Amino acid sequence: MSTREDEYQEVLGVAADRARAWLGTVGSRPVPPTATAEELRPVFGGPLPDGPTPASDVVAELADGAEPGLMAIGSGRFFGWVMGGTLPAALGADWLVSAWDQNTGIRFATPATAAIEEAAAVWLLDLLGLPSTAGVGFTTGATTANFSCLAAARSAVLGAAGWDVTQDGLTGAPRVHVLVGEERHETVDLALRYLGLGAPTPVAVDEEGRIRVDALAAALDAVPAGSPLIVVLQAGNVHSGAFDPFAEAIETVRRRSGWVHVDGAFGLWAAAPASMAPLVRGVTGADSWATDAHKTLSVPYDCGVAIVQDRAAMRGALGLHASYLVDDTTELGDPQERVPELSRRARGAPVWAALRSLGRLGTVELVEGLARRARAIADGARGIPGATVLNDVVFSQVCIAFEDDERTRAVTARLLADGTAWMSGSRWRGRDVIRVSVSNWSTDDEDVRRSVEALRRAAA
Ligand SMILES: *Cc1c(COP(=O)(O)O)cnc(C)c1O
Repeated sequence: MSTREDEYQEVLGVAADRARAWLGTVGSRPVPPTATAEELRPVFGGPLPDGPTPASDVVAELADGAEPGLMAIGSGRFFGWVMGGTLPAALGADWLVSAWDQNTGIRFATPATAAIEEAAAVWLLDLLGLPSTAGVGFTTGATTANFSCLAAARSAVLGAAGWDVTQDGLTGAPRVHVLVGEERHETVDLALRYLGLGAPTPVAVDEEGRIRVDALAAALDAVPAGSPLIVVLQAGNVHSGAFDPFAEAIETVRRRSGWVHVDGAFGLWAAAPASMAPLVRGVTGADSWATDAHKTLSVPYDCGVAIVQDRAAMRGALGLHASYLVDDTTELGDPQERVPELSRRARGAPVWAALRSLGRLGTVELVEGLARRARAIADGARGIPGATVLNDVVFSQVCIAFEDDERTRAVTARLLADGTAWMSGSRWRGRDVIRVSVSNWSTDDEDVRRSVEALRRAAA
C-alpha cells in the first residue's frame, strides 16, 4: 500500500506527462475534436464501479479517454467565440492553486493567497487606469463579474432612493430602470435576471454596435426623475470589437444620478496600451467594470474580475458576516466580500502570475498583438474573392461575410471540416457571418497566414 505522499507524487507525474503531451501538440494538431460528447459518454460512463482505482490509473484513463473530444482551444489558429490559450506562468500557478487548495474567502485563514490576489488587484487597477481604491473581486468569469458589479449597483441606486434592498428585498421596491445598448452581451441580461431586475431597456446602437448617445439621452428622458437608474456600457462588442463612446455616454448619464457599469469582458484590456487610449476614453468615469482574465489575459478558466469604485457598496452587496468566520477588520476586508461565493479557489493567483511573467510591457504587447493579428486576418480576408469584412477592425474581432448567407454558411462549414483553423459562425446586422476573435497570446504571423489560406481554400 502506497502512502498518501506517494500517491500524490505518482498522480502528479501522470498528470504532468499527459499535460505535456497535450500542450506539445495543441499547436500542430487539427483544431476541431474528432469525437462528439455522445460518442464519448460510454468511454467515461457505465455503472459507477464498486471498488477503488489507483489515482494515477484514473488520471491516465481520463486523459486518454478525453483526447479525441478535446478542442484545440489553445491552438494559435483557434478563433472561436472569445476563447484562447493559457500563458505558461498562469498554468503553472493554476496547478499550484489546486495543490495548495486554499479556500480564499477569509484573509486570516489564507494569508498567502489573499495577499497574492490583493497584489494582482493593485496591478490590474494600475494597468487599466482605474481608481486605485476600487474593490476588486476574482469571480468565475465576466457573467459573475457583471452580476457582482450590478449587485453593488442595485444596492446603491435603491439606497439613494431610500430603499434598503439588503433588508427589505425587492418586493415593493421602487422600479430600477436599466438601460443597455441593443448589442450588449446576453450575459448582462442574465446577471440582471439573477438580481431580480428583469429585462433591461435596449438603447439603439450605430453600425458598429456602439450605443448612440442621442438615443441614450432620449431613453434617459423617459426614465422618471429620481428613479433608481443603472446604465450598462460595453468595452468590446463580440462581433465588431467596438467600444461605446464612454466619455460622452457617461457625461450624459451624469446629468442625473445613476450608476454606470461597463461590461469589458475582453475589451477593457484596451485600457492597457497607450496606443488604444482613444477606444476607452472616459471609461474610468464609470462606477464599476467587469472583465475576464480568461479571455484577453490568457489565464486558465475560470477567472473574471469585478471592479467597483465604491468599495463599501461592493462589500455591502456581497459580503457575508457569520459568527464562525473571522472578519477582517482592515479597510480592505475579506476576499469573500467582493465575490458571490464564500468558498472558492485562489483564482487570482494565475492572474498575478500572468502579469508577473508579462510585466507591463508584455501585457501591452499581448493586447496590441491580438489587435494587430485581427487586422492581418481582415486584410487577408479582403483579398479573398467574394469576402467582405463588415466591421471596422479596431480590436480583436473580425466579421466576414460572403455574397449571401447560404454561401457564408457553406464556407464556414468547409473551413471547420478542413480543421486548420476554427472560426465561429454567427449572425450580425441581419447577415450570417464568420466571426474571428483573436484571443490567443500565442497566435503568430504563421498562424495568421495558414488561417487566411484555409479560409481561401474554403471559399474556393
Ligand atoms: C464572454 C463575454 C461575457 C461573459 O463572460 P464569461 O466569462 O463567459 O462569463 C460577457 N460580456 C462580453 C462582452 C463577453 O465577451
